[in-house]
Amino acid sequence: MKRRGYPGLVHVVDTLARPVRDLRLSVTDRCNFRCTYCMPKSVFGRDYTFMPRTELLSFEELERVARAFVRHGVEKIRLTGGEPLLRKDLEVLIALLAGIPGLDLTLTTNASLLARKAQALRDAGLDRVNVSLDSLDDATFRAMNDVDFPVARVLDGIAAAAAAGLRVKVNAVVKRGVNDGGIVELAGYFRHSGQTLRFIEFMDVGATNGWRMDDVVPAAEIVRRIDEVFPVEPVEPAYRGEVAQRWRYRDGSGELGVITSVTQPFCGTCTRARISADGKLYTCLFAVRGTDLRALVRGGATDDELDAAIREVWSRRTDRYSEIRSEQTVDRERVEMSYIGG
Ligand code: SAM
Repeated sequence: MKRRGYPGLVHVVDTLARPVRDLRLSVTDRCNFRCTYCMPKSVFGRDYTFMPRTELLSFEELERVARAFVRHGVEKIRLTGGEPLLRKDLEVLIALLAGIPGLDLTLTTNASLLARKAQALRDAGLDRVNVSLDSLDDATFRAMNDVDFPVARVLDGIAAAAAAGLRVKVNAVVKRGVNDGGIVELAGYFRHSGQTLRFIEFMDVGATNGWRMDDVVPAAEIVRRIDEVFPVEPVEPAYRGEVAQRWRYRDGSGELGVITSVTQPFCGTCTRARISADGKLYTCLFAVRGTDLRALVRGGATDDELDAAIREVWSRRTDRYSEIRSEQTVDRERVEMSYIGG
């Protein structure tokens, strides 16, 4: 792997021998969508209080934390949120992170602001983006984002990203009875585009989305439905710990992925750490408590002290929530995805 032998690299594994390789940095807890399964208006309404700006890690603090994780073996950083493109001057952060040698840098977005920002992001050094798009049917999409945002503007954002030279993947969360009727249409639309579409099983993140197992469309069913119309065959994973199971169309028209977080959990190879917008380190999407790295950074900790804190947390990591998920774990307390970063 490209970072092996990187000077100053500190090897750390958790209690299940998993290294830390991916870091998700949440740059804001705000979003301009109110996707019913993620930030429902009933909870994130007009009177909801988001974090004040002073609570957010500054770009310099984010870079410092990022570099600390890179010293521990992180090879890939994803900026997320909330909606990361709502963070003012995000391209300044991209430029800082793009200055870290050998790092794979990416961003997850709802693409509502992508048409306007794609070129500046690319110019700052971003290589690729993941766009969330759950349906091509305008009425379904508007109902799911719950702010009446038209699907055409997301497609414009994707086109602008591609034109700016960004590689694009598209992620669709599937909820039974809501958008599963559009699975084949989505597959057909992206088949010849060179943009890999990935379907994500609806997960029980946070405590506000009213998750039920009945709402989950298993990835095997998603693949079966597509295969009936556009025949597919499996592709070997590109690397250990790859989140999406890969499939390719037999006619050579591209690839497709499924993220089987519910029906076939992949905790055993999970190498992801997450930093919330206010600088707390979480070692699982389903965690309850984080470790306050912002307090260390703002309290004048040296790099050695910051490194020691990260090593301490990671070496004690035991999380494997998705493997122990059941109807009984649904009521367990946990943080919201908009806060911890998707
Ligand atoms: N605003 C950005 C976006 O739309 O991509 C980034 C944050 S969003 C929380 C990241 C991803 O998490 C989106 O693709 C969203 O669809 C997905 N997501 C949110 N809640 C989910 C759930 N309950 N199950 C599966 N995926 C979910």
